[in-house]
Formats: sequence, C-alpha cells, structure tokens
Amino acid sequence: MDIRKLKGFRDILPGEALVWQHIEAAARRVFGLYGFEEIRLPLLEETRLFSRSIGEATDIVEKEMYTFADTGGTSVTLRPEGTASAVRAYLENGLHRTDPKAKLYYMGPMFRRERPQKGRLRQFHQVGAECFGWDEPGADADVLCLLWDFFGDLGLSGRVSLEVNSLGCAPDRSRYVGRLREHLRPRAEGLCENCRRRLEVNPLRVIDCKSVHCREVTADVPSLLDDLCGDCADHFARVRRLLDLQGVPHAVNPRMVRGLDYYNRTTFELLSGDLGAQNAVAAGGRYDGLVETLGGPAVPALGFGLGVERLILLLGADAASRPRPLVTLIHHGAEGLERALVLRRELLGRGILADIDYESRSFKAQFRAADRAGSRFALVLGEDEVAAGTAALKDLGAGTQEVLAVSDVVRRLTEASSVDS
Ligand SMILES: [Zn+2]
Ligand SMILES: [Zn+2]
Repeated sequence: MDIRKLKGFRDILPGEALVWQHIEAAARRVFGLYGFEEIRLPLLEETRLFSRSIGEATDIVEKEMYTFADTGGTSVTLRPEGTASAVRAYLENGLHRTDPKAKLYYMGPMFRRERPQKGRLRQFHQVGAECFGWDEPGADADVLCLLWDFFGDLGLSGRVSLEVNSLGCAPDRSRYVGRLREHLRPRAEGLCENCRRRLEVNPLRVIDCKSVHCREVTADVPSLLDDLCGDCADHFARVRRLLDLQGVPHAVNPRMVRGLDYYNRTTFELLSGDLGAQNAVAAGGRYDGLVETLGGPAVPALGFGLGVERLILLLGADAASRPRPLVTLIHHGAEGLERALVLRRELLGRGILADIDYESRSFKAQFRAADRAGSRFALVLGEDEVAAGTAALKDLGAGTQEVLAVSDVVRRLTEASSVDS
C-alpha cells in the first residue's frame, strides 16, 4: 500500500494498547477516589482559545500549533494541551454558576506541529486533572498527593521525584523580572539568540532554556522565592507542610518557571532520571487568573498534565499482559464445534474467559494454541465425547483429566474460576 501514516503520528497496536488501558484504568481509579470526574473535550478548538490562554509569546503558540483555516475562514487548532479546553468547557457549560468548585480530569491526544525528531510525536497523549474554585493550599497539596498516588498505584514511586516552586503573584513576578533583567542584561552576550529576544519579552523563559550556553549564564540567577510577598510565601510554606505531613517527598526547585504564561504560585514537575534530557513526566501548577482571562469570573484553579508516552517509557511497553483464558475449547467435526460454541457462550455469560478456534484443526494444533494462550484448562469435545454427551476437561498444568457430563461443564469451570480469583 502506498498510503502511510503521517510523520509524527503512530499506531498503538493491540499488544501495546494493554499498557494504555492499564494506565487509563489506574487514572480512573485514583482520580475517582480523589473526587475528580471525567470530562470529554473536543480535539479541535478555535485558535483564539490557545493564543489567549497559553500566551502569544510562547513557543507553543508561536511555532508549534497545528493550526489551519476551516471552511468559512475560522482559524482552528488541534488542541496542544488540555487546560485551555477544560476552562472553556467549564465556562461555556456554566459549571461555575451554582458552585464554582469542580474537579475534572480528562485523557486523550494532544497535537503539536514540532519538527519530528526521535521521541517527539505530533500526536501525543496526556492525562490531565483540573481543580477549580479553591485557592487554599489544601487544594494544591491534594492535587499533588493525587499525582503522587497515581504514580504509586503504577508502582513508580521509586522512579520519579517531585519538584515544586512558587511563581508568586503578578506583583511578585514583576519585581523578580526586573531583578532578573538587571542580572542578565550585562551577560546577554552569552545567551542564545532566542533568549536575547526573550530577555525583553519574557525573561522568565531564559531560565528555562535548554541551551548549554544559557544554562551557564543563568547558573547563578537570583531566586524568585526571595521576591514572594507574605501571602504567597505563606501559601507555599503551607503546601509544603501538607506534603510533609502526608509523606509526599519533594524538593524545591526555584528555577522551575514553566513554559506557559498562565501559571502563578505553586508549580510542580514530576521528573524521572530514566527519561534522559526530556525528563519531566508530569507538570502543572496554579493558574488563578486563567478563568478570568477567558472571560469568566475570578475563579482560582490548578491542575496538571502528564505525558502517557513518557509514562510508558518508564513502565515498559510490556507492563500489562493479555488476560489468560481459563479454558480453551477443543473440538472435532461439525457437531463438536456446535456444542463447543454453545458451551463457550454460556461460559462467557458467567464472565469466564474461554477461547476457541472456529476451524476444526487437528487436536495437536488446537492444544498448541491452548498452550500459547496460557489456558489453564482444555475442554475436549471429540467424536467420542459428542456421542456420549460428555466433555473431557484437562488441567494443562497438572496433566490430569476428568470426564464430565456436558451439563456439568459450566458449573465445574465456574468453581475453578472462583478458586482462581
Ligand atoms: Zn504574592
Ligand atoms: Zn537560550
């Protein structure tokens, strides 16, 4: 076939999809326990939503969005992240009207039109959570506990570390930005071209730059934490105290400024040394001004997004395995197949995983298939059994066999499956 998938897009094949399901099930379980409810959002939005929320001067909006003109000329964009859409939906559907408090989560694909390079996909996937309506530190701590427990549920607590920072409020940041510019201007020569421009537009980004030169120049930048006002400093201290009380290990990283314009106060990243330079597997923070920026009332909020592809790199693509059938039905002749299919459906109706081939191949081939599938039992309906109205149940591990009346098969296998689980 001469049609291939687009660059930066990929297929998730059945074997690998198992680990995706495993992650999604863990998310539903843990997020649900914390009182978060799923929201399903469109993939396509008006471009204005993202330029207004993420910020015109960000890399994402400047050069990484999948934007095109829809018929009729509206500029539309495949969502590059989930927060903007969640806020739009929260406002558009009036979720804030009776009670501004809402805890939402979502999972699905996001799109960025980056230059395709190793490990960078144009369609990637995120699980995200957004918590609207609380400015109390308890909400920040709870969201972080949720994130930590989700990784714990997946058995990854030992492979990730949590870093937190506070970006303070707007006055704190403008004090800091002033100090930062003063510090960086005499050193601007050493910055990359991008950062020399950023120094005037948005100097916070300079600290975030991955270029080696910029890292050197910014090695001893002043700390934003020194510019926090009393309220913001207190908020941050209380978030950290709640994390300590709940045994969530974390380190303060005053250089973490996040790439998007809308963050304030608590920001955080979950990092893994096992992921190389692109080592953040989840990131988020407070965005108290965003709901208002998008035309709503002043509702404080925070949230995070986590990258499913990166999470799978940590977990291993084989972290979840195909469920093994309890039994494979092995049959001979047209009548054997008929009886086997009827029995199998009865078993499926009891929630028992039972495998069958629709083709009457040799017993040897059918037994081989039962082994390959990891079945515990084989149920044989050969010529003799069909004539006698029986079935032979073989325990493939123990090598034992018992002959059952067909009418006893379902009861016997239901027993075996309840012992199994
Ligand atoms: Zn402040
Ligand atoms: Zn730079």
